[in-house]
Amino acid sequence: MSKKLDGKKALVTGGSRGIGAAIAKRLAEDGADVVITYAGNQTAANQTVAAITASGRKGLAIQADAADGAATAAAVQEAATALGGLDILVHNAGIANFAPISADTQDNFDKTFAINVDGVFAGTKAAVPLLSDGGRILIIGSINAHSMPVAGGAVYGATKAAVAGLARGWARDLGPRGILVNVIQPGPIDTDLNPADGPFASVLTPHVALGRYGKVEEVAALAAFLASDEASYITGAAIDVDGGFTI
Ligand code: NDP
Repeated sequence: MSKKLDGKKALVTGGSRGIGAAIAKRLAEDGADVVITYAGNQTAANQTVAAITASGRKGLAIQADAADGAATAAAVQEAATALGGLDILVHNAGIANFAPISADTQDNFDKTFAINVDGVFAGTKAAVPLLSDGGRILIIGSINAHSMPVAGGAVYGATKAAVAGLARGWARDLGPRGILVNVIQPGPIDTDLNPADGPFASVLTPHVALGRYGKVEEVAALAAFLASDEASYITGAAIDVDGGFTI
């Protein structure tokens, strides 16, 4: 039986854990071959690859720091070579270090922008010549691009607003090739970055209309839809997956 991403070739950055791992696994379940990058957790990266191959798809993990433009570009090229092309690029790798301006540092600003924004630019720049016409670029942004319910999130929110701006521009640039560029903006999702029993949970959970943290699979479901033919008229969009957090 054919699946909706049969034969597609995908790269997911930061696919070793959390949302990225869930997206990588879901794309494979839907029929795509999937390469992931990771920063340092090779054990987790191997687990994601094992899940991809258990779905009957080709899987590969590449260590590549998203803050390193050359390494990111090399990973994109290696992924396309290994898969024989590239149809779907998911920019997921990201960090979040919250600090109010009185305690924030230039180092945190530079590092967060390097991973969350420069990495997205470098990866897209490398991927555009390799992506098939009609391909997909998905960026995992955040509701913090437009909503900041706690103190200390200025730099993180700025990086996520920046990628939403990039996506709108790239949607215009790449529309003539039928390449769709969209941003997924999660609310609180239970991962190592933001555990449902972690320091933000007691503040954030009461604001969620559904009264709970989201699951990584609930973000991956939107990624799979946006990667599919069913999303053929959606580009330049930033879509919240937040359980009603920001309504
Ligand atoms: P996790 O911390 O659980 O996982 C992060 C993933 O990104 C890991 O695979 C990690 O690799 C990888 N990664 C981190 N830094 C780098 C780097 N410098 N280079 C390459 N890979 C890197 O995070 P989440 O799954 O929670 O977050 C994923 C994305 O979703 C991020 O962009 C985040 O901003 C966004 N997001 C998350 C929300 C949440 O509530 N969880 C809400 C809104 C947005 P390794 O395993 O090797 O460390």
